[in-house]
Amino acid sequence: MPPSQPVLVVKVAVPAPLRQLFDYLPIKEAALPTVGCRCEVSFGNRVLVGVVWGHEQSIVDASKLKSIRRIIDEQPLLDADLMALCEHAANYYHHPIGDVIATVLPVLLRQGNEALLPGRLEWQLTAQGRFAQPSALTRAPRQQQALELLQQHPAGLPADMLAGLDIQRTALVALEKKGWVTLSEVATTTSAPRSLMAAVPPTASTEQQAAIKAIQGAHSFTPFLLDGITGSGKTEVYLQAMAPLLEQNKQILVLVPEIGLTPQTVRRFEKRFNVPVISLHSGLTDRERLHGWLRARRGEAGIILGTRSAIFTPLARPGLIIVDEAHDSSLKQQDGLRYSARDLAVWRARLLDIPVILGSATPALETLQLARNGRYRHLKLNERAGNAAPPTLLLEDCRALPGRDPLSPNSLKAIEETLKNKQQALVFLNRRGYSPLIHCHDCGWEAECNNCSVHLTWHKSDNRLVCHHCGAQQRIPPHCPKCKSSNLGDAGSGTEKLEELLQAHLPDCTIIRVDRDSTRRKGSLDAALKKAHSGAPAILVGTQMLAKGHHFPNLTLAVILSADSGFLSSDFRGPEHAGQLILQVAGRTGREKIPGRVLIQSRHPEHPMLHILLSGDYGKLADALLGERRDIGLPPFGHLALIRVESAKVEEGMSLLGDIAQLEDLPEGVQLLGPIPAPIERRQGRFRSQLLLLGPDRPPLHRAIDILLARLTSHPLARRCRWHLDVDPTDLL
Ligand code: ADP
Ligand code: ZN
Ligand code: ZN
Repeated sequence: MPPSQPVLVVKVAVPAPLRQLFDYLPIKEAALPTVGCRCEVSFGNRVLVGVVWGHEQSIVDASKLKSIRRIIDEQPLLDADLMALCEHAANYYHHPIGDVIATVLPVLLRQGNEALLPGRLEWQLTAQGRFAQPSALTRAPRQQQALELLQQHPAGLPADMLAGLDIQRTALVALEKKGWVTLSEVATTTSAPRSLMAAVPPTASTEQQAAIKAIQGAHSFTPFLLDGITGSGKTEVYLQAMAPLLEQNKQILVLVPEIGLTPQTVRRFEKRFNVPVISLHSGLTDRERLHGWLRARRGEAGIILGTRSAIFTPLARPGLIIVDEAHDSSLKQQDGLRYSARDLAVWRARLLDIPVILGSATPALETLQLARNGRYRHLKLNERAGNAAPPTLLLEDCRALPGRDPLSPNSLKAIEETLKNKQQALVFLNRRGYSPLIHCHDCGWEAECNNCSVHLTWHKSDNRLVCHHCGAQQRIPPHCPKCKSSNLGDAGSGTEKLEELLQAHLPDCTIIRVDRDSTRRKGSLDAALKKAHSGAPAILVGTQMLAKGHHFPNLTLAVILSADSGFLSSDFRGPEHAGQLILQVAGRTGREKIPGRVLIQSRHPEHPMLHILLSGDYGKLADALLGERRDIGLPPFGHLALIRVESAKVEEGMSLLGDIAQLEDLPEGVQLLGPIPAPIERRQGRFRSQLLLLGPDRPPLHRAIDILLARLTSHPLARRCRWHLDVDPTDLL
C-alpha cells in the first residue's frame, strides 16, 4: 500500500560522499532531537556520527527508514551561524554537507566523544529531589545510589566526577525524568575582574589612527582591506581596533597563515590584553584542539587565534574577524573540502553581521580588485612604523654566475659585511633539501620518483632521495641504474647545501636554518625563531617559512635566490606569487633603526615585471598584472573551477573528462579549457588529467559545474577513477 500519511522525518547530515541529507525516523518515545545536535545513525552496514539538520513532515514509506540510534548531544553543538557557514561551503564548493561537517568538527567530536570540558557540567538536585525518599527507589538501586550521593552534596557534583564514581548516566537521566535532578552548565570561576589593558599601547601614527577609527566605526558587516607595507604596524592597528570590542566582552577570531607565527602573535596579544587567548593549529593534540574549540564556543576565550581551519571555530559573542597575511597560499585547503579560509571569513562576517579585516602588504589580486571597485573598504598604511625606512631593492645580475654557485661573489661580500657590522643577514631560497637533482654525467639519467613525474631531492643529512610530492624515499644508487656508470652528480642547491657552503665559507658564523626539515622536532622552530629575534649576528637561511610576518629587529640584509623563476612560470599566478614572496622577504629587513638592503639574484634581469618590482611598490606591480589578467579574462575578471581526475591508466581520466567536456546545455559564456594532462602528470602512482572551467560570472559557472558533475558521476568510467572539484583553484599543478 502506498504511504499516504505524512510522517515526521529527521534530516541528518552524514559524513558520506553524497551531496544530500539523509532521512531517519526519530527515536521512539524520545523527544525530537534538536537541530545542531550530533546523533549516531546506521548507514549501510556502518554506524556513523551525523548532525541533525532539520525535521519535516514528509510522505514517505516509514517502513523503509531506520531510526536514529542515539542522540549524542544534549545541547546543539553547532549553532545557527556555523550551520549556515557549513551550508554555504557545501553549496559554493559543491561538496557533501556531511563531509563539510567532518572538516569543521574536531576529531574527537567527529568520533562521537562527548562535547564536555572536564568539570563544567554538574548534576544538581531540584527542590523536589531534595525531599525525595531514597527508600522509594529500592527497585532501582543505581538511581537510589545516585540520589543519596547528591543529597550528601547539595551544591551539586561534576558530571565527570560522578562517572568516575561509577554512577551511571542512565540512572541520572532516569532521575532527571522524575524531575529530581538536573544537569546544568556551571560558569567557569572567573578570576577577579582585572582591567582589560595589560600594557599601554604606543601612540598610533596618523595613518594608523585613521584605519583604527574606520574599523571601530563599523558596527555591522563591513569588509576592510588593510593594505599596509611591511612593517607599517598592521598588527598594532588590529590590537587597537580590538580593544573596545574586548571591553564589551566580544570575541575576536584571528587567522594567521603559519603555525610558526602563532606563538609569537599569541605572546603579542597576551602582552597587550588581560583576556584569555587560545590558539588552534595543526600542532595541537586532539584533546587540546577539542578544548580550545569548546572554550571558544562557551565564550571563555576573548581572542581565538588559529590557522586556516580555525575559521570554523564556534563563537559565543563574535565581534570581529581578522585575516592576517590575507594573501597567503596556506589559507587555501588543497584536499578534501578545498576551501579558501579568506573567502569563508568574509562570508562568515556577513552571516554574523560583523566587520572583517583582511590585512596584507601584498594583497591577492582578487582582494585588491574588490577594494579598488569599492566592495571592500580600502585602508592604507604607506609608511613604516616608528621611523623605520623601507628597504632598498637591488637587482643582482647572475647571468654569468656558474651553475654550481648559488651565491654571487657580490652577495657573499654583502653577507660578510653585514656580519662584520654585528647584524643579521637572511638568505632566502624556497627549496629545501641539499640538491633538487641527481643525474648521470655519462648518459643523462635523472633520479625520478617511482610514483610521481617529478625529480627526487637529495637530502644529504639523511643520505636519502626524497619525493617532495608523495614523500617516497630511496637510497642513493651506487651507480647509474641505466648505464652503470659511477659518474653521478647533483645539480642545483637547496637550503641544506646553502647552509653547508656558508658554514664552510664563514666557519665562525652562527647559521640559523629554518625549513620544514630543520624544524621537524617539536619546539625547534620556536627555538630557531627566538635565536633570530635575539638579534645576535647570524645568517638566517630559510624557505618561505621565514618570509611571513616575522619581525627580526637586527636583520638588515636579505639575499633572494631563484625567486624570479615564478615570473616565467606557466601558472598564471606565478608572477603574482613571485612578487609577493620577494616583497615579503624584503619586508623582513630594516624594520628598526638601520635601513634594509635586498639583493635579488636573477638570471633574467631584463624581465619587465622584475623592474616594476624594484620600485618596491606592490600597487604598481598589481596594476601591471591586473592589466594582463583583464585582457584574457582570468581572475579576478573571470572565475575558475577545476575538475581533476586521477586514474590508474592514463587514457581513462582523459576520456572521462573528454566525454563530459561538451558545451551543449552549458550556460552561455562558460568556457572549457582541456581536458589536458596535469602539469605534474603522475602523482602517487596515478595519472592526473584536468578540465578547467572559466566563466565571466559566478552564477553561470556554478550552473555549469552542476551539469558537468552530473555527467561525470553518472559516467561508467567515474567508478574507475578518483576525481575532485576545486572552485577558485590557486594551484593548477
Ligand atoms: P606589520 O604587521 O605591518 O608588518 P607590525 O605591527 O609588526 O607591522 O609593526 C612593526 C613594528 O613597529 C613592531 O615592532 C611594532 O611594535 C612597531 N610599531 C607599530 N606601530 C607603532 C607605533 N604607532 N609606534 C611605535 N611603534 C610601532
Ligand atoms: Zn648513466
Ligand atoms: Zn612521489
